[in-house]
Amino acid sequence: MHNKKINIAVDGFSSCGKSTIAKGLARELGYTYIDSGAMYRVVALHALRKGWLTETQINEEQLKKHISEMAITFRTNARGEQETYLNDENVEREIRTLEAANGASRVSTLPFVRHELVRQQQLMGKEKGVVMDGRDIGTVVFPDAELKLFLTATPEVRARRRYDEMKAKGDDPVFAEVLSNVEERDLRDTTRAESPLRKAEDALELDNSHIGIDEQLQWALEMYHKITANNEQN
Ligand code: C5P
Repeated sequence: MHNKKINIAVDGFSSCGKSTIAKGLARELGYTYIDSGAMYRVVALHALRKGWLTETQINEEQLKKHISEMAITFRTNARGEQETYLNDENVEREIRTLEAANGASRVSTLPFVRHELVRQQQLMGKEKGVVMDGRDIGTVVFPDAELKLFLTATPEVRARRRYDEMKAKGDDPVFAEVLSNVEERDLRDTTRAESPLRKAEDALELDNSHIGIDEQLQWALEMYHKITANNEQN
């Protein structure tokens, strides 16, 4: 018998392996993976390019005026990887820089930015069958998600992962900078007034500092099967 599709929320701090587990779940279940962080990064990139976001300030007026002109979409490339587009331009590489990450964490504190992106994310999940990762998926975007995971890991472990990722891409990051970026974003994500990062009451928490990817995915799949089996009985 075919399981009814559900929505799965994966939340947690930055560089916690959310996307790895979310992509793995989507692949195993035939679900659609959506990287909500990429959407905040696109808004930041656009604002950086236009000069609305600088080291010291954000031009909220301009950003607000133009936010609905940004069409953010995801497309799968020839290697089967998902890439992020802004108005038909592939911006996948550009949104992965530290500058864009920092910018994302800053624009994501603005209520009008959150409202617009949450609206788009909720539309994407309307038909169910979505695995979305982010900070507020279980609390705000899909408060009714049938399965909510909350991942944690120490800042050092997370900075190391991000550092290795950047190295593998051919960048030459400084570890101390990557660590302070992680810590800075943690602070901003947990203390912002609008939808701060927090674990939903009904989310299942996993500290993956010392757990491998396969083991995490097995755990997540087990949780999925448990929940969908219960749903069938009800
Ligand atoms: O997950 P990622 O590192 O790509 O997210 C970039 C930034 O976007 C985060 O630091 C966070 O501030 C913000 N974000 C958010 N809500 C989400 C996803 C990301 O505020 N659902």
